[in-house]
Amino acid sequence: ATCLRRPHVAMLPTPGIGHLMPLAELAKLLVDCHGFSITIITLAVSASKAQAALLSSLPPDISSFALAPVPLHDLPPDAHIETTMSIAIVRSLPDLRDALSRLRSSTNLVAFVTDLFGTDAFPVVRELGVPPHILFPSNLLTLSLFLHLPELDATTNCEYRDLPEPLRLPGCVPIPGPDVLHPLQDRSNDANRWTVHHGHRYREAEGILVNSFEAMEPEAAKMLRQHEPGRPPVYLVGPLTQSRTAKADEGLECLRWLDQQPPGSVLFVSFGSGGTLSTAQLAELALGLELSGQRFLWVVRSPSDCGDSSEAYFTVQSKKDPFRFLPTGFVDRTREVGLLVPSWAPQVAVLNHAATGGFLSHCGWNSTLESVQAGVAMVAWPLFAEQRQNAVLLAEGARIALRVRAAEGGLVPREEVGLVVRELMEGDKGKVARRLVAELREAAARGLEEGGLADKALDEVANKWKTTN
Ligand code: UDP
Repeated sequence: ATCLRRPHVAMLPTPGIGHLMPLAELAKLLVDCHGFSITIITLAVSASKAQAALLSSLPPDISSFALAPVPLHDLPPDAHIETTMSIAIVRSLPDLRDALSRLRSSTNLVAFVTDLFGTDAFPVVRELGVPPHILFPSNLLTLSLFLHLPELDATTNCEYRDLPEPLRLPGCVPIPGPDVLHPLQDRSNDANRWTVHHGHRYREAEGILVNSFEAMEPEAAKMLRQHEPGRPPVYLVGPLTQSRTAKADEGLECLRWLDQQPPGSVLFVSFGSGGTLSTAQLAELALGLELSGQRFLWVVRSPSDCGDSSEAYFTVQSKKDPFRFLPTGFVDRTREVGLLVPSWAPQVAVLNHAATGGFLSHCGWNSTLESVQAGVAMVAWPLFAEQRQNAVLLAEGARIALRVRAAEGGLVPREEVGLVVRELMEGDKGKVARRLVAELREAAARGLEEGGLADKALDEVANKWKTTN
């Protein structure tokens, strides 16, 4: 009977390891600090080795299972991931309803939490009498965009990239049009329609938990913490990252290599779980790293135009040997200063290693938070999703990153790579970024301590859920 009264939360991550990670961290905190038990419900389309490994590493009070596969072959081959995820959820709703009603009869189900694109589950969840919530896995800047999207979509007459002025959201750093969220950049595309649709639905949530923290976006935090009729309460519970429980049992080779390098001397280069460059861009990056004269540890993936990447987001592994796409002679010439790792590295351990002095990143939000928690300043090289917005926030708002700029035609030239990397590692701007990231690191750590801002925000949510039934 005690067991039956224990509060239980059902979580539905949308596909992508970067979405599952913060939800899994939230689950661990709810179990460890608040006495909950959790079920994580995944979609069949998101099955990857990385996901399986993460799910199986969770404590016994967090169980998980996958919904039955749904057909997605009728989607156009160029459908954006936002569209694929949203449709996968809609088609899984009958199965989700069964799963949730089973959970409702076998547990004390007090809340449902999904992330970015899972909001079409809300009517089903409400029907079962369970309050729906969102864990927004990115920052307040992007959450603000989602919340204002219905109105923006109705009042904007051109493509966002053609806006004469940057987009100004309350309390947020202005976003130049071309940097606005990627799925919104072609307004005739289904990905835009789906994103606006979720923006409408965000208002139906009972609460929105956000994986960011006050010091990262102080003005936006002030605005969103205020009560606003018609908008769910926003709770700043971040940073929720794997760094709090990270163990480095893989990728030992690169950690050993780092052990041999001087403190703060190595630039870590990685584009997240799914980011890939074109063959031409891969070559420019390689030659730019060489030009910079810095040491580097680079997670290399096969390029996006070699026919291997369309599934990279879901599978996380390069199928082809990625090193063969590098410029001739590059590997030999940089042997003394660089280490190349195919596909995947133990990122949190690398960032926290004393030899790591900078992070050239695609600005995925998990990577960003991990870098902040390790006190590592960044070179911002955004690719897709909300990464260009994150780059604006990091370079213009928090000022912990230097951003590379593409030339006409979209390619970042080797000279630019060389200059920005050297400035980060040896220049004055790099020094400022390092000072600011050290301050943010402290603020993030204070927030997570008992009685800190993030800790109190989660307390509030947990107490609300405990008194739901
Ligand atoms: N990651 C890792 N090793 C890699 C690449 C990625 O451990 O080689 C982890 C990284 O630490 C982060 C996550 O995968 O926690 C990537 O999430 P992020 O939001 O940065 O980017 P996404 O993969 O969603 O684009």
